[in-house]
Amino acid sequence: MKRIDRIYINGQFIRPNGTEEMDLVNPSTKEVIGRVVLGNEEDVRHAVTAAKEAYRTLSQTTVKERAVMLQRLHDAVLARKDELAAANIDEYGAPRQAAIWRIPLAANNFLDAKEALESFEFVRYIGKAKVVLEPVGIVGIITPWNASYSQITGKLAAAIAAGCPAIIKPSEMSAIQTQILTECFHEAGLPAGVINVVNGLGATVGAEMTRHPDIALISFTGSTRTGKEIYRGAAETMKRVTLELGGKSPTLILDDADFAEAVPAAVKSCFGNNGQSCVAGTRLLVPEHRLEEVKRLAKQAAESMKVGDPLNDDTVLGPIVSERQYEHVQRLIRFGIEEGAELVTGGEGHPEGLETGYFVQPTVFAGVTEAMRIAQEEIFGPVLSIMTYRTEDEAVEIANNTPYGLAAYISSSDAEKAGRLASQIKAGVILINGAGFEMKAPFGGFKQSGIGREYGVFGLEECLETKTVTGWESAVK
Ligand code: NAD
Repeated sequence: MKRIDRIYINGQFIRPNGTEEMDLVNPSTKEVIGRVVLGNEEDVRHAVTAAKEAYRTLSQTTVKERAVMLQRLHDAVLARKDELAAANIDEYGAPRQAAIWRIPLAANNFLDAKEALESFEFVRYIGKAKVVLEPVGIVGIITPWNASYSQITGKLAAAIAAGCPAIIKPSEMSAIQTQILTECFHEAGLPAGVINVVNGLGATVGAEMTRHPDIALISFTGSTRTGKEIYRGAAETMKRVTLELGGKSPTLILDDADFAEAVPAAVKSCFGNNGQSCVAGTRLLVPEHRLEEVKRLAKQAAESMKVGDPLNDDTVLGPIVSERQYEHVQRLIRFGIEEGAELVTGGEGHPEGLETGYFVQPTVFAGVTEAMRIAQEEIFGPVLSIMTYRTEDEAVEIANNTPYGLAAYISSSDAEKAGRLASQIKAGVILINGAGFEMKAPFGGFKQSGIGREYGVFGLEECLETKTVTGWESAVK
């Protein structure tokens, strides 16, 4: 049983001022595996004091000095990769292979930021003006539970590259994972106050970060509902915000695609990360006359996915993270059935023999129409909705018909056509024919999927403020 009773402020692990405690539960077994003592508003104010002091020197460091910091952070995270992966399996339920894969991915965010930093022009000349890009100030980082490591490292890497100290509020449900990550940051040996980590709830620690006048930017990943609250709260102090929010991403399979490859790939991608991915392609759009073939292929793909103990090497789908999220997924499956969608496979309840954890049956619906809740709302579980279109114009229309615009996937044997459709879809990231994400390229959403972009150069720019100076030549004479 782990007890997380320290937060990290000014280079030290200290007891929080807050005293409220919360259980940490293994979602595969429902066993309580730890407790976290939650920080409060006072802890945020303490962290801000430390970060303000650190800003004085960090904001004056050279590119070379910050590049060394980023390299050290990368190395420190990799040095604890086995423990980080084990915690991701226990506390989150990530299948072992996925947990192992995601540690270098998270560490690599520091190297991508270092590369962006080393070629970045912090001073530019426009007309008679000298334009200087300066660190924005203290960055508040607020993250969810579904990819704690990479979300924290991506945001932290951008802040450090820009010369900004950070205060991190990880998800309260990821306390064991983020304790180890924080120890890695400590081991990297950056100056005190550059990185601070305050465990706590959104309504207390998160809200105080949003309110605090000395935090210049909130870099948030989480639900659209919380993102709106932060956006409203940040207006009071005119904080900058980067909001990476929810999604209801479409996968468009065109008539000329290789269905035997594209359909199973779409199912696999939708069910990745136990179905808890903001970028999941949860709406599968296919030509109407190919529906029966798609149903057969999707059923086969979903039923062949091994659900179960994340510790087993062949497990592909682990549990949903918590009871609350499990109930949410069950509710949405119920809505799908009640609203008249056809259940191709899966459904309510646990898969047989997996009643001890928050396991969900891999579920595929067909006959899903645009008005149904399963076509509009983020489910955040392994549930796929098959929808049909008659023309490619209609496919684009359906693809764009949700409040979200995070990602979209297109399969076609005609690259030119796929490119044309990509330009018509309102989403921040488009992946064609199974291509993966490019982590150095900007990531973020259109519409209610967010504001701003993260990673690489674009992530660095989010943490900078622009100053225009004229008459600078006369000053140096
Ligand atoms: P959430 O919005 O409930 O919580 C996210 C974080 O915000 C947590 O740390 C939480 O404590 C904090 N928070 C809650 N209320 C707050 C408030 N009033 N003020 C400040 N902070 C507050 O989201 P979640 O349930 O933890 O995560 C799942 C959501 O995250 C999904 O909607 C998913 O799509 C989204 N997500 C988006 C991306 C992306 O990059 N677009 C990536 C991963 C997850």
